[in-house]
Amino acid sequence: AHLDAIAATDGTLNSYLHVDGETALATAGEVDRRRAAGDELGPLAGIPVALKDVVVTEGVPTTSGSKILEGWTPPYDATVAARLKAAGTVLLGKTNMDEFAMGSSTENSAYGPTRNPWDHDRIPGGSSGGSSAAVAGHLAPWAIGTDTGGSIRQPAAVTGLVGHKPTYGSVSRYGLIAFSSSLDQAGPMARTVADAALMHEVIGGHDPRDSTSIDAPAAPFVEAARQGATGDLSGVTVGVVRELGGEGHTDGYEAGVLAAFQAGVDQLRALGAEVREISCPSFDLALAAYYLIAPSEASSNLSRFDGVRYGLRVGDDGSRDLDEVMALTRAKGFGPEVKRRIILGTYALSSGYYEAYYGQAQKVRTLIGRDFVSAFAADGGAVDVLVSPTSPIVAFPIGQRVDDPLSMYAADLCTLPASLAGTPAISVPCGLSEGLPVGLQVMAPALADDRCYRVAAALE
Ligand code: GLN
Repeated sequence: AHLDAIAATDGTLNSYLHVDGETALATAGEVDRRRAAGDELGPLAGIPVALKDVVVTEGVPTTSGSKILEGWTPPYDATVAARLKAAGTVLLGKTNMDEFAMGSSTENSAYGPTRNPWDHDRIPGGSSGGSSAAVAGHLAPWAIGTDTGGSIRQPAAVTGLVGHKPTYGSVSRYGLIAFSSSLDQAGPMARTVADAALMHEVIGGHDPRDSTSIDAPAAPFVEAARQGATGDLSGVTVGVVRELGGEGHTDGYEAGVLAAFQAGVDQLRALGAEVREISCPSFDLALAAYYLIAPSEASSNLSRFDGVRYGLRVGDDGSRDLDEVMALTRAKGFGPEVKRRIILGTYALSSGYYEAYYGQAQKVRTLIGRDFVSAFAADGGAVDVLVSPTSPIVAFPIGQRVDDPLSMYAADLCTLPASLAGTPAISVPCGLSEGLPVGLQVMAPALADDRCYRVAAALE
């Protein structure tokens, strides 16, 4: 059914970069045979899944949305892909994305923009916009996205989905094509909180192949979602972050988004939660800090795309030396946003500027982490979770912001603090503004992802 839906509508949506229906049907058939034979099956046996094309998949083309990786077929599976495979899922295909996950609209894909199923003239968010459009358009029941500065939560918000960015280190980064290694996390995008929790339980947990993987037992996310679904939030204290759309901080926020968010907060109160406003003063600096740290790490990570090891190679006709081939390959293979980030990052890391830019941004990062710690601390704000809108704006028209990178970056205002702090955050639908979905973000302390699922499920 999903393959039929893809054939019928993906010509318009462009949510997939690669679909292999034959292999999908063969895998599904194999599950049927094993079920009939009474074999023990994985917990997700036969359930289709889509993976963002930043996830490396053995024998399946992987581009990260870039021309520089066109034609590359990886020889191994990312841990996330391997765990979903072991659980019995059926891979439908790889989804479109902003090139190297840099963007908030999927317009930076080298393979054309993806359209929002709610309104085909609007963006589906980004960078995991292929995943959000596929799930919202019913071309997959759920999908994997990755979130460096909001790329799971923001596309989920603007397509009416649930999207969760796990605690940094709780889902393996092994086999995710790196953008900004200290921020990147993979996570679930789904139509319900319970689905997201279920997928998270399968992909999460320690992985010795990722040096930043946390060796801690996975919290029972499905159970937390079930508890939340009872609709009882008594005993839960919710902090509304003033700096994210509160009084004096509404610049750039659409009135309809703030109204839907307020309705969500009212609902939390009606379900028994105690709601209070919390100030996190350093959150105002998150955007500036993120757009130094992420490009700095990207400029280093993307140096591996040299025209020698993977994918595209330009000008290798024997008349040029290695440096020229590298320069030609990178000039042709990278799109404009990726080049902008590499230049920004290289500049910020250069000697003489390193302390003034990268060093300062790292200090701000520490302050943001401290704001979270004090909001959750018993002798500070003493809240269990923090909430905010997920995105200050609803899905905007395709083309509206492509020539204005700063207005594009502003779409990440609310998601960046949890990214920089490494803490978990979920986006759950909280209503509509002018007929388009609005998301409410629930943020929790590190390793307390279960709180995100509980509160989000209560709102659903
Ligand atoms: N929009 C942000 C950026 O462009 C976040 C992207 C992401 O989370 N991958 O960097």
